[in-house]
Amino acid sequence: PPDIEQLGRASWTLLHSITAAYPSNPSPAKQTETRDFLSLFSKLYPCHTCASDFQTWLKEGRNAPRVSSREEFGRWMCEAHNAVNVKLGKEKFDCDRWEERWRTGWKD
Ligand code: FAD
Repeated sequence: PPDIEQLGRASWTLLHSITAAYPSNPSPAKQTETRDFLSLFSKLYPCHTCASDFQTWLKEGRNAPRVSSREEFGRWMCEAHNAVNVKLGKEKFDCDRWEERWRTGWKD
C-alpha cells in the first residue's frame, strides 16, 4: 500500500538524518538515549509487520545498535536499512556512501 511506502521514506529520512546530526563523540547519556529511542521506535512504528520484523532483526547477533560515534551509527543505520531492502527485494545501498547521501551531499 502507498501509505506504507510514504511512511517508510519519511521514516528513513528521519532516521538517517538523526545519524547525520549525531556527535562524533557522544556522551554515555546520549548513547543510552539513542538505544532507548531505537527500541521504542521499533515498538511504536505504525506498520505491524514492519515493526515486528525490525524488532526480530534488532535481536539477531551483531545487529545491536552501534552508537559510539556518528560514523558507527550512520553505518549501522545503513545496514539496518539494507536488511529491509533485501527483505523487499530492493537493491542494497553502498554504505561507504551513507554520509554523502545523508550528511554532506553528493559530489556530482
Ligand atoms: P526507501 O527504502 O524508503 O529509501 C529512501 C532513500 O534512502 C532511497 O531513495 C535512497 O536514496 C536511500 N537509501 C536506500 N537504502 C539506503 C541505505 N541502506 N542506507 C542509506 N540510505 C539508503 N516496507 C514494507 O513494505 N514492508 C516492511 O516490512 C517494511 N519494513 C520497514 C521497516 C522500517 C524500520 C522502516 C523505516 C521502513 C520499512 N518499510 C517496509 C518501508 C520500506 O523500507 C521503504 O521505505 C518503502 O518501500 C519505500 O521505498 P523506496 O524504494 O522509496 O526507498
